[in-house]
Amino acid sequence: MRCPYCEFRCELSTGSCRCQMYEEKDGQVVEKYAFQWTRCDVVDVEQIPFFHVHPDSRFLQLGGFNCNARCAYCINANVAIRPKEVFTNRLLPAQIVDRALDLGCIGIHFGINEVTVNLPSALAVAREARKPPP
Ligand code: SF4
Ligand code: SF4
Repeated sequence: MRCPYCEFRCELSTGSCRCQMYEEKDGQVVEKYAFQWTRCDVVDVEQIPFFHVHPDSRFLQLGGFNCNARCAYCINANVAIRPKEVFTNRLLPAQIVDRALDLGCIGIHFGINEVTVNLPSALAVAREARKPPP
């Protein structure tokens, strides 16, 4: 079964998985480390490579580990390319959205590594964040 999450289209049934983040289970492609984050804290919007988006606001930055790329200039290589001893926290979507609200964030930004290697978890967070307030 081929992984659909990026253009490398790894053949998981032969054990090929470039990013080491997905596996085949019961005929499905599943994340190996769902909802395991290496970062979940506040950043000022000016630290994110956005241009003039809600100046002077705060975002919750969420990040995972491993990556499907091997960029020579990677600023997060110890987490994205050589994650031998990364420390992760398991946080579910509702906990992440609550934390963002508690910390006065106006949005959630995914950084640190490439989002495709944590895509089902990141999408679940996005869906939770877009729910209308109760
Ligand atoms: S996300 Fe990972 S396993 Fe899936 S195709 Fe890309 S590199 Fe391969
Ligand atoms: S985290 Fe970004 S810069 Fe680093 S290897 Fe992955 S895509 Fe490249």
